[in-house]
Amino acid sequence: MSENIEKVKCLIIGSGPAGYTAAIYASRANMFPVLYQGTQPGGQLTTTNDVENFPGYPDGITGPEMMIELQKQAERFGTDVRNGWITKVDFSGDVHKVWVNDEKEIHCDTVIISTGASAKYLGLESEQKYLKLGGGVSACAVCDGFFYRNQEVIIVGAGDSAAEEAHYLSKLCTKVTMLVRRDQFRASKIMEARVRNTENIEILFNTETDEVLGDGQVVTGVRVKNNVTGETSKIPATGFFVAIGHKPNTDIFKDYLDLDETGYIINVPGTAKTNVEGVFVSGDAADHVYRQAVTAAGTGCMAALDAERYLAAKESVVEV
Ligand SMILES: Cc1cc2nc3c(=O)[nH]c(=O)nc-3n(C[C@H](O)[C@H](O)[C@H](O)COP(=O)(O)OP(=O)(O)OC[C@H]3O[C@@H](n4cnc5c(N)ncnc54)[C@H](O)[C@@H]3O)c2cc1C
Repeated sequence: MSENIEKVKCLIIGSGPAGYTAAIYASRANMFPVLYQGTQPGGQLTTTNDVENFPGYPDGITGPEMMIELQKQAERFGTDVRNGWITKVDFSGDVHKVWVNDEKEIHCDTVIISTGASAKYLGLESEQKYLKLGGGVSACAVCDGFFYRNQEVIIVGAGDSAAEEAHYLSKLCTKVTMLVRRDQFRASKIMEARVRNTENIEILFNTETDEVLGDGQVVTGVRVKNNVTGETSKIPATGFFVAIGHKPNTDIFKDYLDLDETGYIINVPGTAKTNVEGVFVSGDAADHVYRQAVTAAGTGCMAALDAERYLAAKESVVEV
């Protein structure tokens, strides 16, 4: 083996709640994990202000602070946390090969994938401005809906997730305006019916977002355009929710792992196992349903325990 190739027992890809939780468990099980943070150290939660639903923080905590705490906890037990982006993998043989920044090659006994999924946004300048300011743009109703209780909000999207999130918001907010680009939903009939039958949800078909309006700090409304008539109008709102889908960060695994049609990694139900022995998945990279920090952390724990049991079983075969 070339001197440049490093050998590790457990490689963790990603530094969100899933990756760090896997690291805490793997390091406490003497698996000497090496964790690559990727381009977003701390993961998605570093892009949000207040996290109020993660157990153990009765007064809430900011996303960046929480992720620093998780990193410290993983490092306390010996996790080797590194900067670097995994650019390529080869899971075709007994040894799992991984490349960092197209240069460094690592051979791994086990790999835990915790690369998350990125929310899709419309891409409007005004949307990105208020998203970065933390001033009223969100891609997660379950995470941020509570901050808009008794207020008027807007949600963009037409699929099942959008319908579910609109319904969730309708229980907190006085009014939810749903913007649907086409003249019909993409959501299932049952989800569509749920939205249509909710009194405080107004659906605007053939309607696109022209601009997110604000006072420079927070969102105050949206200018919309009817794509049939060309007419524009303003809708007042304090929250602008985007529910047009997520993209799992799984492209580099597609030649080796089973993915669903959207790109989420398919795990063996009830476990963190993938279709390749010794390769495990945790967090949003395999979860198109819950997409929460606490569920990501939970599956991070599962991935480390599954990896530890896999190694133990392998070692006991060698001993016999
Ligand atoms: C604005 C916002 C607010 C949110 N608020 C809440 C909330 O209040 N409560 C809640 O429970 N959830 C919240 N969520 C959801 C929560 O952030 C996610 O469910 C959670 O972060 C998923 O964790 P994860 O570890 O699976 O992935 P992520 O947090 O997405 O982390 C993925 C990690 O993988 C790394 N990575 C990706 N590809 C590579 C690669 N090729 N090589 C190396 N590293 C790679 C990235 O750099 C990143 O570190 C929010 C999400 C957003 C976007």
